[in-house]
Amino acid sequence: MKVLLIAGDRLGEYDPLTANGVTAGLQFGEVTILAAGPNAQNKAQQAAQIPGVNRVFLATHPALQSLAVENLSLLIHHLTPSFDVIIGLTSTFGSDLIPRAAALANCSPVTGVSAILDRHTVIRPIHAGAVLAAISLAKTPIFLTIRPSAFIAATTSQQGKPTPITAIDQGFESNLSQHIKHSPSTNSRPDPVSARVVVAGGGGMHAGGSFELVEKLADRMGAGVGASRTAVDMGLASNDMQIGQTGRVIAPEIYIGLGISGAIQHLAGIKDARMIVSINNDANAPLHGAADYALTADIFTAVPELLKK
Ligand SMILES: Cc1cc2nc3c(=O)[nH]c(=O)nc-3n(C[C@H](O)[C@H](O)[C@H](O)COP(=O)(O)OP(=O)(O)OC[C@H]3O[C@@H](n4cnc5c(N)ncnc54)[C@H](O)[C@@H]3O)c2cc1C
Repeated sequence: MKVLLIAGDRLGEYDPLTANGVTAGLQFGEVTILAAGPNAQNKAQQAAQIPGVNRVFLATHPALQSLAVENLSLLIHHLTPSFDVIIGLTSTFGSDLIPRAAALANCSPVTGVSAILDRHTVIRPIHAGAVLAAISLAKTPIFLTIRPSAFIAATTSQQGKPTPITAIDQGFESNLSQHIKHSPSTNSRPDPVSARVVVAGGGGMHAGGSFELVEKLADRMGAGVGASRTAVDMGLASNDMQIGQTGRVIAPEIYIGLGISGAIQHLAGIKDARMIVSINNDANAPLHGAADYALTADIFTAVPELLKK
């Protein structure tokens, strides 16, 4: 089968999780990567280093120089007849793009794929991860977004020839959508999706009136900061920090939950973390049950002690 993988975009930069998409794509067949959007040239060069990639397409048309996925989905639509499977990452960018491209081809996308059983069957978690649905892919073209954390990255090759890069958007025209402004949040901490360690705060932080303790511990550990929905709803954390079913799905080496109960919707976003640590004053908190290390303590006492040590 022929696979078109859309290189991931993270706020205009190359998303290294593209290499995880290659691992997924190779399970179907020959992988071509499409590098487009801001910094397409750099994305193409990075993509060309990933082993196992057959071709890299580079699209530098001015209409594609922004995060305007409306224009990019039209380019994908032009390319769709040459491919059997079109794959994007389950990220803000991929989740915006792939359903649009699928709709143009009159297809239904399968989103949030966590495993590929064979070329005709994929797994996607549903009901906040409580059920794994096996989806049969009856006909091509197939449109998927894959959860990058569920696939190991194809390691970037240091030696060997990079994959050839071909410019493909000559003659492409679209003015459907224009990018006006881009206001990234000013956060110097690692992004929780790619951070090795994530410290997350929940409703238990409310008594402190801020997220200061969470941030202090995160900064001490060089960690990303996450939040439960309750913490976001309380105004303690911003929306983009929410982890869980309706937030972001993370898979860090270490996740530390401070004053987080561990509702199923939150667990859906952290179940791939390699080590879960919970600090909660309720010994029966569900997050304690899911944790490798559970400390029953008041966060306002335990975290300052941790910081001292
Ligand atoms: C459709 C749907 C989607 C949802 N999506 C998400 C999602 O994506 N992400 C998400 O997180 N939630 C989501 N939720 C909400 C979810 O059901 C929970 O309400 C939420 O996760 C609870 O957050 P919390 O555990 O931080 O807050 P609470 O439920 O308020 O729990 C606070 C915890 O802190 C502990 N605590 C309090 N004070 C202290 C202290 N001083 N020291 C130590 N521990 C303390 C308490 O014992 C308690 O366990 C969703 C809900 C629905 C219905």
